[in-house]
Amino acid sequence: MAKAAKPVGVSKGECLCGKVGFEIDTPARWAWHDHSAASRRAHGAAYATYVGSWRKRLRITKGKPSIARYEDKATGTVRSFCASCGTPLFYERPRSPHMVNIPRALFAGRTGRQPLYHVAIEELQDWAYTGEPLVPLKGFPGVVWQRSKKKKPIEHEGMF
Ligand SMILES: [Zn+2]
Repeated sequence: MAKAAKPVGVSKGECLCGKVGFEIDTPARWAWHDHSAASRRAHGAAYATYVGSWRKRLRITKGKPSIARYEDKATGTVRSFCASCGTPLFYERPRSPHMVNIPRALFAGRTGRQPLYHVAIEELQDWAYTGEPLVPLKGFPGVVWQRSKKKKPIEHEGMF
């Protein structure tokens, strides 16, 4: 993880409906994929990719009253989302009080950090897409699919 690099730019993001807008100074501190069950559920997705920003480098540029907060009492984490469209916005953890994690997908441009890190990779779901080769699905333009895997040879069973 990088130390506080001198800000060289600004990256802007917003929620789906556009009510909430924000910006961070870039480069961000780091970026990571979160495979934990909590983030999976909060995003309704296979995993969440976050950009970690110093709190003091995050500015809400519009829609502050539309930001709703959910605190997970068990972990003390706070997740914010747009009260209008439901887009997950900010993920704050008590052990990192100076950091705010922001879904990478909300930024239109670059954030100065590649998501090179994985948290809870042991929870990677077997239905998550991990880059397998895809081919066009006949009769469905715009749809590609991963051909069903053939059954593994019987001699591989019990190897692990
Ligand atoms: Zn919204």
